[in-house]
Amino acid sequence: MNFESGIEFAKALDNKDRLKKFRDEFLFPQHKGNNCIYFTGNSLGLMPKSARELFEQELSDWAKYGVEGHFDAKNPWVSYHEPFSELLTDIVGAKKEEIVVMNTLTTNLHLLMVSFYNPTPKKFKILCEQKPFPSDYFVFESQLKFHGFSKDGIVEVAANENGVVSDDNIIEAIQKNKDELALVLIGGVNYYTGQRFNMQRITKEAKKHGITVGFDLAHAAGNVDLNLHNWEVDFAAWCSYKYLNSGPGAVSGVYIHKKHHNNDKIQRFNGWWGHEKSSRFEMKNEFVPIASAEAWQQSNAPVFNMVAHRAALNIVKEAGIKNIFAKRDVLTAYTEFVINESSPKNAIRILTPTKVQERGSQLSLYIETEGKQLFDYLTKNGVIADWREPNVIRIAPAPLYNSFEDSYNFGAIIREFYRSK
Ligand SMILES: *Cc1c(COP(=O)(O)O)cnc(C)c1O
Repeated sequence: MNFESGIEFAKALDNKDRLKKFRDEFLFPQHKGNNCIYFTGNSLGLMPKSARELFEQELSDWAKYGVEGHFDAKNPWVSYHEPFSELLTDIVGAKKEEIVVMNTLTTNLHLLMVSFYNPTPKKFKILCEQKPFPSDYFVFESQLKFHGFSKDGIVEVAANENGVVSDDNIIEAIQKNKDELALVLIGGVNYYTGQRFNMQRITKEAKKHGITVGFDLAHAAGNVDLNLHNWEVDFAAWCSYKYLNSGPGAVSGVYIHKKHHNNDKIQRFNGWWGHEKSSRFEMKNEFVPIASAEAWQQSNAPVFNMVAHRAALNIVKEAGIKNIFAKRDVLTAYTEFVINESSPKNAIRILTPTKVQERGSQLSLYIETEGKQLFDYLTKNGVIADWREPNVIRIAPAPLYNSFEDSYNFGAIIREFYRSK
C-alpha cells in the first residue's frame, strides 16, 4: 500500500477502518482533556468499558449467594473459566480441549516444564533466542538447577548485526545441538525487538530430531496468527494482559497438544481441579484426570482475575481475529511510514523486521542519539510508549483501539522534537 503524508490521509484510513467502532469500547488515559496516544498495548492493554459491569455482576452475586454462587451465580464460578477455551481457539489456532486458562504465565511455564522438560544426562539442554524475557531465563536456569544441571544448559541463539535472531540461525543451532537438546522454548514474538519467529518451521525442525517444542506467546497471543495444533507444537503459554486487554496480572492461558492428553507417562503436578468433573466432589484420594488440557488445572478458578478476560475476549470475538490481523498490518506499516517521514535520515532505526510475516504490531525504535530526550518529549506530549535501556523506544499500535490518526499525531510530535533541535 502506498501511504501519503498529511492528516487527511490518516482520516481517510480511519473512515475506511472496519474496526473503528471498537475504539469507543476502551478507556484511554487522558492528557490535557484528550485521549493519550496509547502505544503500550504490548505491555498492558487498555481497559474494556464492559469490564466494570462484569465485575459488578460477580460482586453482587457474591453478596447475594455466598458459597452458592459456585452453582447459582449468573456465570457459575465452578465453570467460570470454561468458555475461555472456545473463545481462544481462533486466537491460538488450537482445539478447544487443548486450551485451558489458569494461573499466571511464569507459573504455567514451570508447570509445563514439569511435564515437557525431561532431561537425561546426555540430552538436557534448552534452546532459546538470545536475550529471552528475563522471567523465561530464570525459569530455564532454575529448572536446569532443579534437575542437577548448570545454566550452561541454556543454548541462546545469537542475534545478527541488526539485533534480531534469524530463523536460519535457530534452525542451524537446533541441528548443531540436536543430540543434547531436550527442549526448544522460544518467545514466539520477541518482547524487545518485536520480531516474529517462524514457529512452524522451528517446530518442524525440532520434531525431526525428536526434540520437544514449546512457545512463550506473551507477545504473540492476540497479536499474530497462530496455528499451534496444525504446527504440532507440544505446548505453549501466554498472558492475557498484553494484546488480550484483560487487566493487570490477569490470568494466563495454556495450550497442550491433544496427543499428550491421557498419557500417564507424562508427569504433572496435580490438584483437585484437574480431576474428572462428575466425580470431583466425591473427594476421594484417587486422581482421575480430565481428558483434556484441563487436567493441568490445580485450583478452582480465580474468578476476579478472570472477569476482564471475559469482557476482552468477547470484544475480540465480535471484531474477529482475522480482521484484527488485517488492520494490524496496515496500521503498523503506516506507523513505520510516519516515523520515517517525521525524523531526519538515520536518526531512528527500526529494529523490527519490515516483512509483515516477521513482525506483529510492535515496532522497536533504536534512537541513535538523545533517545531518552525524545522519549521524555513524547511523554510530555501525551504519548504512552515504553523505554528500554540503552536507547530503544517500543511502541505497539493496537488494531482494536488505536487509530491511524494516533499514528499521524505520533509522527507530528516526533517532527516537532527534531525541529526544536
Ligand atoms: C510479559 C512476559 C512475561 C511476564 O510473566 P508473568 O508471569 O505474567 O509476570 C513472561 N515472559 C514473556 C516473554 C513476557 O513477554
